[in-house]
Amino acid sequence: MDILLKNAYVITLDENDDVFENCCIGIEDKKINYIGRYKEGMDDGYDRVIDCDGKAVMPGLVNSHTHSSMTLFRNYADDLKLMDWLFKKIFPLEDKLDEEESYWGSALAQLEMIKSGTTAFCDMYFFMDKTAEVCRTSGMRAVLSRGLTGDDFDYRYKESEELYKKYDGSCDGRIKIILGPHSVYTCSLSYLKKIADKSNESGIPLQIHLSETKDEVSNCKKKYGMSPVKLLDSIGALKQETIAAHCVAVDDEDIEILQKRGVNVAHNPGSNLKLASGIAPVAKMEKKGINVSLGTDGAASNNNLDMLEEVRTASYLQKVNEDDPTALPVCDVLKMATVNGAKALGLKDVGTIESGMNADLIVLNTKKPYYYPRYNIKSAIVYSGNSSDVDTVIIDGNVVMENGKVLTLDEERIYYEVERCAKKLTGR
Ligand SMILES: [Zn+2]
Repeated sequence: MDILLKNAYVITLDENDDVFENCCIGIEDKKINYIGRYKEGMDDGYDRVIDCDGKAVMPGLVNSHTHSSMTLFRNYADDLKLMDWLFKKIFPLEDKLDEEESYWGSALAQLEMIKSGTTAFCDMYFFMDKTAEVCRTSGMRAVLSRGLTGDDFDYRYKESEELYKKYDGSCDGRIKIILGPHSVYTCSLSYLKKIADKSNESGIPLQIHLSETKDEVSNCKKKYGMSPVKLLDSIGALKQETIAAHCVAVDDEDIEILQKRGVNVAHNPGSNLKLASGIAPVAKMEKKGINVSLGTDGAASNNNLDMLEEVRTASYLQKVNEDDPTALPVCDVLKMATVNGAKALGLKDVGTIESGMNADLIVLNTKKPYYYPRYNIKSAIVYSGNSSDVDTVIIDGNVVMENGKVLTLDEERIYYEVERCAKKLTGR
């Protein structure tokens, strides 16, 4: 369907950071093919015309690190240390999780992500075929990997391989499959080596949790005599496109390696704060030229999937960390949540509003008190706005939400099924 958006504030996030007032965006065959002034009679050339008077249009948000089905554990175990939370609360529940529950957990996550303006996400978990099935319906763009833990390479790798064969490039290219070794503390070294070798042979990218806490780093140094970043580099695990989630406890030598290997960092400020993991040196990594994107992590450690909340938190956190209010300004942090996320996920035609790009856009209702006066629409979105302002969402040229209603998922059914699955899993 060809769509014309008109009368909009358009935040392009292109190289010049252009913002246009009273602007039109034409979408034809899933691509943006026009950005400019309204021309008499141009409505007739499109199947749908959406009037965006009083609204802002920006690229869809890209969540570069999450575990979508973990919405089922939201608010189940809070106020615990990472290792206690993971090993005593989350892992035992995950052992009981089945594919049906995973499906509804991911459906809840995708409903929440669409409603809060996320158009693409990167997921690592189990039963990823179920997450892919939800994507087929929801219309979301996703990069998925089976989380790999333990020591049993053959069995789990086979699952990853089957997932790749079945889903990579499916849904008109909306779904990509990559490899997902969980972390250096949940995989044996020989297992990590085998995964790295497979990635290097096939060119399939990797995502991994990396240097999330000081404890992870000190345990790794005790066990292997080097930091997690150095360990991965020493076994050739950073040679392909890599998304490293967290990178909180990294030193200058680690940052040097991440830069040299072109590793994409997924910064998860909400999760890092809640688990008291620390503050990732984002401003420092960005200065070194590392591509830093933004993620929510799973809803059990956040406890939502609200990317605009992450945008604001990320900016505030770097200002305090650097003792510098100019750190991570509006344009940089918005790009982390869009352009940089798209780059991290290997999505070439996503992340900006430019002619020829895929139409992954969100429309925000800015006729609200905190958007006035209109000095700077981008500042207003970052520092004053919130995700409930997201009104309409277009992914791959399809309208998946309009006027606050998600058109591709059955909201009431998802709430019902999630409550049923949660009771079955936890007895609560
Ligand atoms: Zn994670």
